[in-house]
Amino acid sequence: MKHVKPGHTHPVVCLDAGHSGDYNRSPAVPEYYESDMSWTLHLLLKTALERYGIVVKTTRATQDTMLGVYERGAASKGCDLFLSLHSNAVGSDVNDTVDRVMVYVPLDGSGDEIGRLLADQISLIMGTQQKGRIATREGSNGDYYGVIRGAVAVGTVGLILEHSFHTNTQSTHWLMKEANLARLAEEEAVVIAEYFDVPAPDTPVEHGVLYRVQAGAFRVRTNAEEHLTKVKSAGFDAYITSSNENDTLYRIQTGAFRVKGNAEAYLSEVKAAGLDAYITTQAINEPSSEPESYTLKQFILDVQTAVGAAVDGIAGPETLSKVPTISRLVNSTHPAVIPVQKRLYTLGYTQVGNADGIAGSGFEHAVKAFQADNNGEADGEITAGEQTWRKLLELK
Ligand SMILES: [Zn+2]
Repeated sequence: MKHVKPGHTHPVVCLDAGHSGDYNRSPAVPEYYESDMSWTLHLLLKTALERYGIVVKTTRATQDTMLGVYERGAASKGCDLFLSLHSNAVGSDVNDTVDRVMVYVPLDGSGDEIGRLLADQISLIMGTQQKGRIATREGSNGDYYGVIRGAVAVGTVGLILEHSFHTNTQSTHWLMKEANLARLAEEEAVVIAEYFDVPAPDTPVEHGVLYRVQAGAFRVRTNAEEHLTKVKSAGFDAYITSSNENDTLYRIQTGAFRVKGNAEAYLSEVKAAGLDAYITTQAINEPSSEPESYTLKQFILDVQTAVGAAVDGIAGPETLSKVPTISRLVNSTHPAVIPVQKRLYTLGYTQVGNADGIAGSGFEHAVKAFQADNNGEADGEITAGEQTWRKLLELK
């Protein structure tokens, strides 16, 4: 482990939800309060960090608890890292040109490394217009921001994470979606775990059920494609999948969640956009005790089904033309993720973990190992129509 205090067997992180009560309403999206977002995100990040065995403290027991900024920073006494979670504002009106992740770090340089890593990763996930960066701000008695000053005073590396701007319409809409916050939390946890040199958890996911949100099913492919455009233009990620060969039905799939409440929250967002949608469930498979039982033929059938290709169990140019890019960052809940997880596991890349339908860090590690073994560039991404897909499908 790196960057931990002497005597710590696990990193200890203190999380601070930026503000209490209903605070900092967005001028762009009136339903958005910075305080709500930061409260939700800090709880999700706590769960994500704990999966790595990182010990997490929080500054306040409830969202309504008031505590001064300096005191919140100082509450991180004995911790290895303090993070105060926020979204930023420029002026009091809507400003759609400023869209940047800012990470405020202490003047002493102690937070530069983790600050840069987080700024880069959060920018990537949020897809902000400007590149993320770190910054310092000096006040009359050291660090300008009280939370950072309080953390530094008790010997903790203290950062403020500004998750872009709630004066920006697009970023505010993005932050309104709990599914996005869940993903943000998982990705921030990956960065923090790597900074501390904490290995990925052995059992990456719990068993249970995957909740998928489906927005329509069609007999005619062109109708499905038309509807897909509608769902996407309403701001939702969506894919077409087909059902089995005897009963071809093209389904529009949007969003997949391990937590039912998250799926329900997402469903209400889809419905609020005027789209018809419902939740379907799928059992999360435990790694098979007989990996050889998942055959290449079955894998091809499952992929063809997942991507809406002709389902014949023979991989050829048509199948290859339909497979999407899949990685931890792109299409991470695409229906093709499950067959790929099973295939990788069967091929011995057991770090992929359970076939849970969500491409996370275990998925990325497994893909990298598979690529390295197949003389490919180990970038962890299964790019549409390219080498990694060919190798997985055993196409020449
Ligand atoms: Zn704030």
